[in-house]
Amino acid sequence: MIPKDHPRYDSLVLRARMVEASRKGILADSAMIAHGRGEAFDYLIGERTTEPAEKAVKAAAAALILAEHPVISVNGNTTALVLEDIVKLSEVLNAPIEINLFYRTPQRIERIEKMLNEAGAKKVLGTDHEEKALIKGLKGPRANASREGVYKADVVIVPLEDGDRAEALVANGKKVITVDLNPLSRTAKTSSITIVDNVVRAVPLLIEKVEELKNLDENELENVLNHFNNSRNLKETLKIVSKAYTGDVEL
Ligand code: ATP
Ligand code: MG
Repeated sequence: MIPKDHPRYDSLVLRARMVEASRKGILADSAMIAHGRGEAFDYLIGERTTEPAEKAVKAAAAALILAEHPVISVNGNTTALVLEDIVKLSEVLNAPIEINLFYRTPQRIERIEKMLNEAGAKKVLGTDHEEKALIKGLKGPRANASREGVYKADVVIVPLEDGDRAEALVANGKKVITVDLNPLSRTAKTSSITIVDNVVRAVPLLIEKVEELKNLDENELENVLNHFNNSRNLKETLKIVSKAYTGDVEL
């Protein structure tokens, strides 16, 4: 048990979730390293949702509401950290969830599928018993996508995605929304909308925003999107990070 008054309580709870998920066999060996990299960047943004992240969440909500075929792509880390919220997001958007693993094994796919189904997911794609189509520009098994999921999607939200895949999805004409704590990653730089925030804060906020904006008309939603500029937003985030480095923050 982690004592509630521990100064690093939230962070330790997330670590415990990752350890548990690793025991359940849903994580790749390198998942902890990816999580640790995320933790480091989370420190630098003050472990809170920044203003630029809020703007990106708003743009992401608009893009997802406007989408004809939105798809939510999940990996092991995302499932480990925000399972229930992902299912809720898929409900409010009426969008399928597609399992996409960097190091794909049938066992991990099956376990993640079971967790999503048990959490109430209505449509889980990316499993081993469905038709696949190839994403151009990617090699090997990672090029596979579900034909009725990511392959067909016009807007995909891919938290904690890898740079190569984010780039290929954009090159295949998709609007790519990502959640990535590292504002300098290739994923962050190549995606259409990058939410630089911890996935555990970003996904609940995104659900709230979708619910808030879903009754706006198309023009208003387009307007929200047109006012968003991803590289400008990343630069605003980097200013916050550099303040942490130069000590220009409250200590
Ligand atoms: P890229 O392939 O985009 O250049 P990378 O190879 O440096 O990035 P990956 O290992 O592919 O990184 O992906 C892990 C990414 O996920 C890291 O950028 C890390 O900051 C981010 N990350 C890890 N945990 C979280 C989290 N809980 N919330 C949001 N982002 C996270
Ligand atoms: Mg990578």
